[in-house]
Amino acid sequence: MSFDELNLIDPILRALHEEGYTTPTPIQEQAIPQVLEGHDLLGVAQTGTGKTAAFTVPILQILHQTAQVERHAPGRIRCLVLTPTRELATQIGESFANYGRHLPKLRRTVIFGGVGQAPQVHTLKRGVEIIIATPGRLLDLMNQGFVDLRHLEVFVLDEADRMLDMGFIHDIKRLLPKLPVSRQTLFFSATMPGQIQDLADTILKPNPVKVA
Ligand code: AMP
Repeated sequence: MSFDELNLIDPILRALHEEGYTTPTPIQEQAIPQVLEGHDLLGVAQTGTGKTAAFTVPILQILHQTAQVERHAPGRIRCLVLTPTRELATQIGESFANYGRHLPKLRRTVIFGGVGQAPQVHTLKRGVEIIIATPGRLLDLMNQGFVDLRHLEVFVLDEADRMLDMGFIHDIKRLLPKLPVSRQTLFFSATMPGQIQDLADTILKPNPVKVA
């Protein structure tokens, strides 16, 4: 299997090639075509499996292709990735930048707690299409009216089991009602204990595509 067989557009294939990737990892091979087709996805995968590219790559392609057809007003938040730590959020942000380097620019920002909020608010006010965030600070900024998710198209919940361990479940439950019902959702967790399965059931559409 090569990346050429996954229905990816040329600017993305070129970026992957430049990264030195020759073959997709198993999770990428399974997930990318399904995400491109618009399906909800339940991915049971750990860090190190190529999970990040398995969602950032098809999301970039979707956002690019729908932008060409629908000519969205710029500055609407179209994709939200929730992840438990600042380090993961930063890595995911870099992944979008790397694989999207040959696409027209999608503005993105990384939001996390433990630092001043002013620069984050400033970036949000200028407008972004992609937000990668830890739950607590995102909720804070939403409650202050700085984040409007009404136009969200794709929602990713990354490392759900770690989110639960870190006590983010209540923040996530408070965030969920603010997301549009009509959206594509990708849910990733390294393990699937009952509580995580329940969370997946409430977030994903019925019968999501499962990859492991
Ligand atoms: P992740 O599981 O997303 O944290 O990715 C783990 C590492 O694998 C990262 O350093 C990626 O840059 C790298 N990686 C992801 N996909 C591929 C691939 N198809 N071929 C080679 N390396 C990859």
